[in-house]
Amino acid sequence: AAKQRGKNRVEPYDARYDSSLRRRSILEHELRGAIGRDEFRLVFQPVVTVPTMRPVGGEALLRWRHPELGAVRPDEFIPVAEESGQICEIGAWVLDQACRQLAGWLAAGHDVWVSVNVSPRELHNADYAERVAEVLRRHEVPPQRIVLEVTEHAVATDLAELIRRLTALRETGVRIALDDFGAGYSSLGQLRNLPVDILKIDHALVAEPESRTGTAAPLVDVVVRLGHRLGLEVIAEGIGTPGQRAVVEEAGCRLGQGSLFGWGVPPEHFEAQLRTASSSAARLVPVPPRQR
Ligand code: C2E
Ligand code: MG
Ligand code: MG
Ligand code: MG
Repeated sequence: AAKQRGKNRVEPYDARYDSSLRRRSILEHELRGAIGRDEFRLVFQPVVTVPTMRPVGGEALLRWRHPELGAVRPDEFIPVAEESGQICEIGAWVLDQACRQLAGWLAAGHDVWVSVNVSPRELHNADYAERVAEVLRRHEVPPQRIVLEVTEHAVATDLAELIRRLTALRETGVRIALDDFGAGYSSLGQLRNLPVDILKIDHALVAEPESRTGTAAPLVDVVVRLGHRLGLEVIAEGIGTPGQRAVVEEAGCRLGQGSLFGWGVPPEHFEAQLRTASSSAARLVPVPPRQR
């Protein structure tokens, strides 16, 4: 009887736990060969100047398509790769590809920068800054054309250590962005001590509903002012509606990204957007939003 009761109570939970563990171990196993099987691609999401919608930069976002598993979302496989340590090899692949694309766009005469997401695990490699410098040299990319995005999770670990790592990185000439600011871990006090150049306001703040007080998105306002007071460039993420765009613009935030301006697209499409933007610069025709 006890066995039966236990079975009834425990099994549904166990089964789910078990299958999510199994999924994790499948992902970890399949990730191991993903670079060799050429299953990764980068897409680039435009970062635009909000008033003109002109792309000035692009965020490299990793895509993984596995022959049997299909497309696996980064929110699912990046944490697995972080835990298993595979993120270091994957991150190196991402940086290399991003620099390769950027070198081509610069050679074609586009005035553009590229940002790359960096995991805490990569950042904590003692020679990370050196490796970054090496990749930039190999592709002959000017460091100031590269932005490295670190998240608040990195901040939550060891602050003094993080400051040392970021300082070393910055000495290579790349710019540092603090990603997903306002998503949870942020401490305003820490922000002042961090050697970063750019503040990226998290989707959640930008999507904040028209507030109870009638003032649209007071948090966006405050974060933009905070960033500017600290001398940082500010980018609003996840702008999905004209209303959100207006809020961001009224807050004085010059740069933005989000579905209103376009999702991440393959490098060829991104370059086409750059070309369209520069050929229509005089008329300031907005780049049409694209499908995901
Ligand atoms: P993130 O760096 O904050 O990237 C922005 C995410 O928001 C992207 O999701 C992007 O597609 C999505 N997004 C863009 N515009 C909108 C919008 O208007 N509305 C909404 N709701 N979402 C929008 P994605 O590509 O699925 O990436 C998720 C996260 O995975 C990234 O968040 C980043 O933390 C991580 N990631 C992606 N690529 C890499 C990579 O190469 N290396 C590392 N370490 N992490 C990566
Ligand atoms: Mg990012
Ligand atoms: Mg973000
Ligand atoms: Mg994110």
